[in-house]
Amino acid sequence: MRVLITGGAGFIGSHLAECLLGKNHRVAVIDDLSTGSISNIRHLKENERFEYVIDSIMNVPRLAEMVDEADCVYHLAAAVGVQRIVDDPVGAITTNIRGTEIVLDLADKKKKKVLITSTSEVYGKSTQIPFREDGDLVLGATVRPRWSYACSKAIDEFLALAYGAAHDLPIAIARLFNTVGPRQTGRYGMVIPRFVGQGLRGEPITVYGDGNQTRCFTHVADVVGALVGLMETRDADGGVFNVGSQDEISINNLASRVRKATGDRSDIVHIPFAEAYDENFEDMDRRVPDISKAQDLIGYRPTYTIDQIIQGVVEFMRGEKDS
Ligand code: UDP
Repeated sequence: MRVLITGGAGFIGSHLAECLLGKNHRVAVIDDLSTGSISNIRHLKENERFEYVIDSIMNVPRLAEMVDEADCVYHLAAAVGVQRIVDDPVGAITTNIRGTEIVLDLADKKKKKVLITSTSEVYGKSTQIPFREDGDLVLGATVRPRWSYACSKAIDEFLALAYGAAHDLPIAIARLFNTVGPRQTGRYGMVIPRFVGQGLRGEPITVYGDGNQTRCFTHVADVVGALVGLMETRDADGGVFNVGSQDEISINNLASRVRKATGDRSDIVHIPFAEAYDENFEDMDRRVPDISKAQDLIGYRPTYTIDQIIQGVVEFMRGEKDS
């Protein structure tokens, strides 16, 4: 198969490219390096089944050519990271909505299957734990920029589902829950690489809010396996699937574990959300997926524990491992 990955030089995209090359597919990547980086794909350049183009998915003629040459499209190009959404809301909203619109429109011309990567952020402040794909989305006010990310991704989902239903375009949607692993950078706010970086430098580990909020962190290898499974399974077409671990951990607990894994030198400090982001910021208390849908259809089962995930990031950031 010839596969196109938008955002393929990003953290998740580069792991996906590697996995698909390992399955003997031809892989083409388009990435504008806004948050991705050449160093993520440097080790793939030698592979004659791999090619990459540094460009935006907004370059329609270029993307059209690449979609034409592919059998299917993994659409990962997006503005990611809460910090980035807060810093550049206009860029984030337009990239996510217009970008997906372009990808779906081009794929629709020749009915190439598109796997859309969405986010657990769409559940917003829902308290229906564990979150089921057919559960309500509970988003905050529009004056709080954080929710634009969830909204833009929800629009992407609506659009993909509409193409699926009205145009018979094969699509599947994966809602990813806090993906973590080697090559993720803390620059855009992601908590584990941030904490690990702070711990390795012996700096204070910065817990935002009271630290009682929880997340389920999922290793990128477990995410990539699910994305490939959803692409390769016809019965996934037209469906929305949670992809995440169910191992719920508070940010306080996470900070203690990272502190220990990085040499026990850091203090753990608490910083109010208003100071970390801005006074309009709102966080969610709990986020846990119901994964029975992906489990039943593709046998999805996360395999990495939180301590293995932390250890992998520590080794990567110490420069001991490059993937
Ligand atoms: N967080 C934190 N310190 C940081 C960065 C993030 O305490 O330096 C918190 C953040 O407020 C959230 C959780 O860690 O409650 C996960 O944040 P991240 O941005 O990684 O992902 P989110 O789940 O918010 O999209």
